[in-house]
Formats: sequence, C-alpha cells, structure tokens
Amino acid sequence: MDTFDIVIIGGGINGAGIAKIASENGLKTAVFEMNDFASGTSSASTKLIHGGLRYLQNFEFALVHKALKERQILLETYPELIEPIKFTFNIGKNPVKYIYYRVGLFIYDHLYIGNKLPKTTTSWDNGFNLEFYDCKVDDSRLVITNLLEAKAFGASIKNYHEVLFIKHSGENFILTVRNSKTDKLSEFETKCLVNASGPWVKQIDRLTSFSNQFPSIALVKGSHLIVKNRVEIKKNYILQTKDDRIIFVIQYLKDFLLIGTTESTIDENQLENQLVDSDETTYLLNSVNQSLNTDFNDSDIVHQYTGTRALYDEKTHSINRLSRDYHLSSETNGSTMYLTVFGGKVTTYRKLSTDAYKIISSILNFNKKPVVIEHDEIQQIKKRNLNVQSLHKNYKKKNRREIDTLIHEIIYAEQAIEFDDLVLRRTKLQILLTKEQLSEIKNKFFN
Ligand SMILES: Cc1cc2nc3c(=O)[nH]c(=O)nc-3n(C[C@H](O)[C@H](O)[C@H](O)COP(=O)(O)OP(=O)(O)OC[C@H]3O[C@@H](n4cnc5c(N)ncnc54)[C@H](O)[C@@H]3O)c2cc1C
Repeated sequence: MDTFDIVIIGGGINGAGIAKIASENGLKTAVFEMNDFASGTSSASTKLIHGGLRYLQNFEFALVHKALKERQILLETYPELIEPIKFTFNIGKNPVKYIYYRVGLFIYDHLYIGNKLPKTTTSWDNGFNLEFYDCKVDDSRLVITNLLEAKAFGASIKNYHEVLFIKHSGENFILTVRNSKTDKLSEFETKCLVNASGPWVKQIDRLTSFSNQFPSIALVKGSHLIVKNRVEIKKNYILQTKDDRIIFVIQYLKDFLLIGTTESTIDENQLENQLVDSDETTYLLNSVNQSLNTDFNDSDIVHQYTGTRALYDEKTHSINRLSRDYHLSSETNGSTMYLTVFGGKVTTYRKLSTDAYKIISSILNFNKKPVVIEHDEIQQIKKRNLNVQSLHKNYKKKNRREIDTLIHEIIYAEQAIEFDDLVLRRTKLQILLTKEQLSEIKNKFFN
C-alpha cells in the first residue's frame, strides 16, 4: 500500500493549490479527483479574479481586501492566464446613486494599497458610466497549472480516481480509491486527509465518520452562457437586474461573450449532471437584451455550463448575502488530521492553500525540507499556457499541424484522458472549432 504524508480529495482549484504548497514543502502528496481535474466548480466560474465589488455592499471589507491582494499577486504570478479587464457599469442618471457607487469604487481601488490596476473613471452615455478594472482568468488552466506544478515538486496527481471508502484508526487513514478507467481498486494510507471536494464536501465527510458536527451548508447553483458576439459588443459590462442582482457580460475568446450568472439553491441529490434550465437561459438573455439593447437569442448560444458552490449557511435571508469567504475546519485524532475546505473563490485559492498548509504543519510535525526543482519544468508549463493563449487569440490563422502538435503535447503532459478534458478544459477548442474539425480531432487522438 502506498503511504502519503497528505492525501487531498478533489482536483479543483483548492485541492490543486494545497497540493502545490504541500509538495513544494517536501510533503509526500497525492490528489485524487473522481472525474477530470477542474471538472467541478473550478471550470464553471464566471472566470474572474476579482475583489468582489458587490461584497462591499455586505460590508465584507476583510474578504474584499484579501481578494484584491490575491488579485495582484496572482496577476504577477500567472500573467499568461490572468488579464486585467475594464468593466463598464451604467448606473443611470440619479446623482445620489452615482455618489454611492463612486465612493464604493474609490474604496475598491484603494482598499489594498498594492493594487496596480488603473483606477476608476466616469463617463456619460445614457447616464453615469463607471469604468473600473478587475481581472479575468482561464480557470481550468489555472487548476491544471497548479497541479502540474505540484507534480513537478513530486506530488502524485490522479484524475478519474474516485475515493469510495475511508477507514480511520487514530494512527492513519486508509482510503479505497477506484480508477474509473480500469475499475481497479487500490488502497492508500495517510496521516493527513484534506477534504477539498467543493460541493461534494458533505458526501466525503460522511465517508469519514470523523467529524462530530457538520456545519450547515447551502448549495448555490449558477449558470452561464457563451454566445457568439454577433453584434460586436466591444466592452465588458456589469448589469444590474430588476431583481437587484448583478450579471457580467465579458469578452470571451475574442469572438464570444460570457454571460452570467443565475443563482438558485439546490439539493445534494441534484449535484450530478446539472444542466442550464430554459428559465435561466431566458433570464440571462432577457437581462442582457434589455440593458444593452441587443437581440441575442437561443441560436446565438455556443456553449452553456453550470456550477455549484457550497457556502457556509449562516441562515441569512438571501443567498446574495451568504459569505463567499472560505472556512477551514480541522480535527485531530491521535497522530492524524482531517481538514475540510468550505466555500471560497478561485481568487482566494492561494491564500486558502497557504492557511491550510499552516494549520497542517503546525500540528503534524513532518520535518521535511522544501523541494528544489529545475526552473525548466515550471517554464515548460508556462510555455504551454502561452501556446494555448496564442491559440485562443489566433485560432483562425493556426494551421492543422500547429494545432495537432499542441494537442499531442497537452494529451501527453497534462493527463487529458477524455475528449472533453482536451477540448473543454485544457483548451477551448470545443467553442472555437467547427463540428467537423472537432470530430477529426476526436478520431485522430481519442480512438
Ligand atoms: C456560478 C459560480 C461562479 C463563480 N465565479 C467565480 C469567479 O468569477 N471568481 C472567483 O474567484 N470564484 C468564483 N466562483 C467560486 C469558485 O468557482 C469556487 O469557489 C471554486 O471553484 C471551488 O473550488 P474547489 O476546488 O473547492 O471545488 P471544485 O472545483 O468543485 O472541486 C472539487 C472536486 O472534488 C471532486 N470530488 C468530489 N467527490 C470526490 C470523490 N469521492 N473522489 C475524488 N474526487 C471527488 C469533484 O469531482 C470536483 O472536481 C464561482 C462559483 C460559482 C458556483
């Protein structure tokens, strides 16, 4: 049986971030992901690295400050995946409303002193337009990048490996894991178990029978549409809906727009195979059409997706007001530790991972030395990110040979096992290429 210092359940952004920092610090680390890496919430976000302007309305200054600081750090660490974008927010002609939002954005610009993005400006076009900066990210590639970095530091990262059973003795945890491609069952042993399974957090917790009191969580589903930018909208917008929500309209892969999100609570048994409801599609398209005077309809939709957050339910009256901040809960028993991740944002994964590592290393004394690796290995990962970026920007000019070479490299180096792993998460070829081109790729590489 293989033994690890730390085993992480869940190959989303939080599992990936914790794996990176643990392996970098010399811990023998394993990540088990039941589907593909980033196939859960971490590829279904609005793809923003942001402070979360609307959280200021809930007076969550600490969260916004933390997120703004992380925004700056991540932008400097992964400039090939994260890019500043300017949002336009039309708030109408009411000067009181203008002052309210202008003050909010002043705070947003200055709350984190190290913020290097340009500051908010105002223009007039059918009312006050506030123009401010945030960042967008290739969320699934950020996950893959962190996992590949962890792998470079020695971690074992396994997609299509589902954790089925967890036994606990006080001395260790023994996990039974099923390789869903071969159906083979294997056992692994560890002293430190991390539950980073996102919306599946409760299901994993039930396997452990370790924690005494599981907190109340709310599963909040959000859906997004990707539409062809037929009317050539040139800006990124924040739209305020009639039901006092916010919808983002973001330039996506050059020729498309990302529109989202809806928000509704779901039950645990609705987690698998979620689809965007027709009500959600109508709501999103109507909101955009009314605000931007456009005529987007169902036939413009090229892709749609839905994701779920598990938020700490503080029994507030509105899901809008549930905090998006993360909570880490840890329990020790004998010489073992069980750490659970609740909530969080893509934006704050690095800080969450650092906090998780601090908790783990303060209790379990592993006494390991940080790992030093060849700079080249990290450069290779960065280079592939740049190649994928370049593919997104110039896909019409790339010839088949260039695309095939990149696909070959990605399948080999990034553990893309299923067709969707390649075309949906590691590249966005699903959106960029025609059906014929996609089926050629499928036949060539996945037969
Ligand atoms: C609609 C929406 C929009 C969002 N937009 C943003 C945004 O713009 N910016 C931002 O910063 N944040 C955003 N977020 C929040 C962010 O996406 C999440 O906080 C983050 O992705 C959570 O990552 P995670 O790793 O905890 O969970 P996940 O990404 O869900 O990963 C958990 C993984 O655990 C795996 N798993 C479950 N059970 C098992 C098992 N038995 N064995 C092995 N693996 C298992 C799952 O398959 C899954 O891949 C958004 C969230 C939602 C829902």
